[in-house]
Amino acid sequence: MNWFQIAKNREQELVKELQSLLRIESVLDEAKATAEAPFGPGPLAALEWMLARGEEQGMRVKNIDQMAGHIEMGEGEEILGILCHVDVVPASDLSTWSYPPFEGRIVDGKLYGRGAIDDKGPTIAAWMAMKMVKDAGIPLTKRVRMIIGADEESHFRCVKRYFAKEEMPTIGFAPDADFPLINAEKGIAELVFSQKSKRQADEKLVSFHAGQRVNMVPDLATAVLKSASANIEGKFNEFLLENNLEGSLNLDTDRYIIMIKGKSSHAMEPQNGINAAVYLAKFLTTELDGAGYEFVRFITEVFDGDHTAHVLGFAYRDDVSGETTLNPGIVSFNEQGGSIEISMRYAVTYPFEEKITAVQQYMQETDFILDIAGNSQPHYVPEEDELVQTLLSVYREHTGDFSKPLSTGGGTYAREMKKGVAFGMLYPGEPDLAHQANEFVVVENLVKAAAIYADSIVRLASK
Ligand SMILES: [Zn+2]
Repeated sequence: MNWFQIAKNREQELVKELQSLLRIESVLDEAKATAEAPFGPGPLAALEWMLARGEEQGMRVKNIDQMAGHIEMGEGEEILGILCHVDVVPASDLSTWSYPPFEGRIVDGKLYGRGAIDDKGPTIAAWMAMKMVKDAGIPLTKRVRMIIGADEESHFRCVKRYFAKEEMPTIGFAPDADFPLINAEKGIAELVFSQKSKRQADEKLVSFHAGQRVNMVPDLATAVLKSASANIEGKFNEFLLENNLEGSLNLDTDRYIIMIKGKSSHAMEPQNGINAAVYLAKFLTTELDGAGYEFVRFITEVFDGDHTAHVLGFAYRDDVSGETTLNPGIVSFNEQGGSIEISMRYAVTYPFEEKITAVQQYMQETDFILDIAGNSQPHYVPEEDELVQTLLSVYREHTGDFSKPLSTGGGTYAREMKKGVAFGMLYPGEPDLAHQANEFVVVENLVKAAAIYADSIVRLASK
């Protein structure tokens, strides 16, 4: 079958459907959420629109509590799952868009709009693929099920509810990330270091604060000092200069307020940011006493110039997913002492229990304890696996691109499936405009992706 030609012949239909779906402003609206529309009217309208397309084609459709749904074709014990989502993030500042975000205007072969690449474009490409396979009359030996979520951008309540009630597909892919495919996703754990000793009334550090979200590198850190060395101002300016940082030091009656600016970045790539908390802690090590001193000394010893916390024995890398990294995202000190909240992204073969237990034991000798506040297991389908091999070879045949499978420190939709990978539809080298102004999808790439998905469905779900 020349899947590309078949998809090309249906380009108008593909574009029209995508425009219709894109015009539904399917943004989560908690204020308008009801039992009938748990994420508000927009996400529900988009979900119902998709399910109506399935019904039109005579496929089996099911709506799961207005949160998610599926469109299914084919017969068999096993299920090939295709995991998509039809909710989008808000368009934000409209003045930053060159074209209206909910219109679907095409300019120079690019279709613009919120959701064009995340995830309505890929959803419609996969939907077109299902129709192409159906219309080709190819007998399927598995059920092919498109699973549609309406809350991916916020809390994943859609797929959580879906899989609590419905069958888990045997194998699957999520067209919600990159080509060629992502088969390794690091584990994501939240760790908290809490200080055992409390702040004494007479010690110098009054408070320290940096960061609001554990999954971001803090770009601002502030400390309040009760007293300081005579030349603190000179030392501070020297420190800023040496480290190429911006900051300020102000005397407010008897207190110094010290601030350092860093650079934000996602916690999965802490090396791309500048952690303001770590720099401020480092500066303060020569100024403090008591619990405040122990606090900044600990941060400096563990995190200064090192995102792997090797001093504590966390460090670990493997070939499939790379380095294990720690991001101190929320750092604070007050009367209760200090606490450091961390987003840890660990390699897929990381011996989590063993490593954490060893660190916890080591911590007994120190002024801190370590707790696990959350842990989402790594997600990994080996490269040798038939699913990965099949999808890779389809992609390679259609594109001539022999890029290696990818790993990520973030989480994709695929990790909701037992055996699933993220598969497209951003091609290598394409700018990723998901969640940004002027989000677009290249129409020609939609056609190519529909062909790749159709061929994949046939190879995975027919004899
Ligand atoms: Zn997405």
